[in-house]
Amino acid sequence: MTQKQTLSFQAEVAQLLHLVTHSLYSNKEIFLRELISNASDACDKLRFEALNNNALYEDQPGLEVRVSFDKDAKTLTIADNGIGLSQQEAIDNLGTIAKSGTKEFMGRLSGDQKADAQLIGQFGVGFYSGFIVADKIAVESRRAGVPAEEGVRWVSGGAGDFEVETITREQRGTSVTLHLRDDALDYLSTWKLKSIISKYSDHISLPILMRKEEWKEGEDNKGGEMVTTDEWETVNQASALWSRSKKDITPEQYAEFYKQISHDQQAPLAWAHNRVEGSTEYIQLLYVPAHAPFDLWNRDKAAGVKLYVKRVFIMDEAEALLPTYLRFVKGVIDSSDLPLNVSRELLQESRDVKAIRDGSTKRVLGMLEDMAKAETAEDASEEDKGKYAKFYAEFGAVLKEGLGEDFANHERLAKLLRFASTTADTPTVSFADYKSRMKEGQEAIYYITGETLAAAKNSPQLEVFRKKGIEVLLMADRVDEWALSHLNEFDGTPLQSVAKGAVDLGSLQDEAEKKAAEEAAEVFKPVLDKLKEALKDKAQDVRVTSRLVDSPACLVASDGGMSTQLARMLKQAGQKVPDILPVLEVNADHALVKKLESSEHFDDLAHILFDQALLAEGGLPADPAAYVKRVNALLV
Ligand code: ADP
Repeated sequence: MTQKQTLSFQAEVAQLLHLVTHSLYSNKEIFLRELISNASDACDKLRFEALNNNALYEDQPGLEVRVSFDKDAKTLTIADNGIGLSQQEAIDNLGTIAKSGTKEFMGRLSGDQKADAQLIGQFGVGFYSGFIVADKIAVESRRAGVPAEEGVRWVSGGAGDFEVETITREQRGTSVTLHLRDDALDYLSTWKLKSIISKYSDHISLPILMRKEEWKEGEDNKGGEMVTTDEWETVNQASALWSRSKKDITPEQYAEFYKQISHDQQAPLAWAHNRVEGSTEYIQLLYVPAHAPFDLWNRDKAAGVKLYVKRVFIMDEAEALLPTYLRFVKGVIDSSDLPLNVSRELLQESRDVKAIRDGSTKRVLGMLEDMAKAETAEDASEEDKGKYAKFYAEFGAVLKEGLGEDFANHERLAKLLRFASTTADTPTVSFADYKSRMKEGQEAIYYITGETLAAAKNSPQLEVFRKKGIEVLLMADRVDEWALSHLNEFDGTPLQSVAKGAVDLGSLQDEAEKKAAEEAAEVFKPVLDKLKEALKDKAQDVRVTSRLVDSPACLVASDGGMSTQLARMLKQAGQKVPDILPVLEVNADHALVKKLESSEHFDDLAHILFDQALLAEGGLPADPAAYVKRVNALLV
């Protein structure tokens, strides 16, 4: 490829470019952060590849980024001597979006500029952000280790296509030249660029260099101006933020670093920065974000911690460093013990990594506990008081996965959980709160799962609990039933789903009530037998219950079985579910049930009873048309 080639952007890129230039307009300056971050990544990559091939340094071991501008040409250039791009890499990496989830991401854009700008920020527009300020971008690059004649020049106006051609380039690495739009000419200023660099890129561990400026007197002492000299100076701190001492880092710098590594424009809720010493030594800088990323539910992808070994970047998204249920945590782990050539496979087996993982998990749980404590602390600020609720609204459901994943921290996790209940509409009730309100004689923590909180709250299964004034925790997160199945008790009190097994209210039921129930079951036996026969294809058992007050019937799962509601959800998600029939429980005191015995429509009534119980918990009769027909027959 010597001749110029014109190629089209992948459709998504064209779409993204359009969005970038239109929605990120109010925060133009971030382009510099993105391009410097790319330059820094390219240097990290070179350092990493050079571990096995020192020749890649080509006698130029000092890695750096240079930012310069040309007032007359109206261009701004960001140049690095990192890994560089081969011709094919330039075509692939600058013409397509390789990231997984791009389609999903595009689908989530709403057209509302403000909301979209946030999303785009999270996704990381990277290189394309240059088009916010430039109407043309020229990239010249040569990959480390390849001959000078195999350089590449990539040019685009950011519309539908780009040009590539082969060039000769002695200098290793990449230079990105922005031809600034007329409304972005204020970036042709050393002062302005320096201030943006110190705001966003101070912590970049490489030196960022700019040309020094000097005051030049005007002729005849008539005014003067700043002129750039040929001398370069370093304009950032150039040391990795996490390697500095805590006391030298301001909250703003912590927040800025977070934004850089997370592509999140909102400040984090909390962070922990520690140098851990002992048999395994490492630095951890871990952040709890204020809101969930769009791909939080993708358990495969979203590990948020970067691994460094002695300041050398090793990998992004190192999932071995934290358990999956803490995948919302962002940050950096810098180990002093791991070998530089460590691979993902090695990480899985390393004892040092296990120690890091355990230590980091404890640290994150500690941060969450501190936030939770602040909720009720008298001396906490209003902002601190609200933090845990904010966290929980975003990540509570993910945290619950920990019950199934992290048995060592079960107790700490259980204390961090919050639920809505029959007395609280929002998830603010902890197990400890619940226990402190338990009725005299109550032996279990009762909960119910439903498709929505409203459905759970209105479930007929709660009737007797409501009548007796017993609080029941309401759960409507998809993970709830699965997660709770891993937690049998809290602080010595068993957990009991009210939708499973026969209700056992223990000593909450008085002797008279128990006796009445037993008698009812006895008297009712012939009807029950008839019901069982009529519904033998739908229900595994039919029994009299004391849990209903106003409703004639409800469905429950057998003890230890899956609730009908979870089974339905799994089916909807396309999963195989064993066909276990539910138990139909009937309220012997209900007029409809009483009428059954003498009714000449026994069969129809039995089926209606069953289908209504299904409807009441948000399900659909297996044969809705038959249901309607039966009801109509009775109505007429
Ligand atoms: P991201 O950096 O998030 O992957 P970008 O759009 O910023 O996305 O960049 C796309 C790709 O282009 C990068 O992954 C990298 O491979 C390549 N790239 C960008 N800038 C440089 C650079 N300065 N040096 C080498 N490669 C680069």
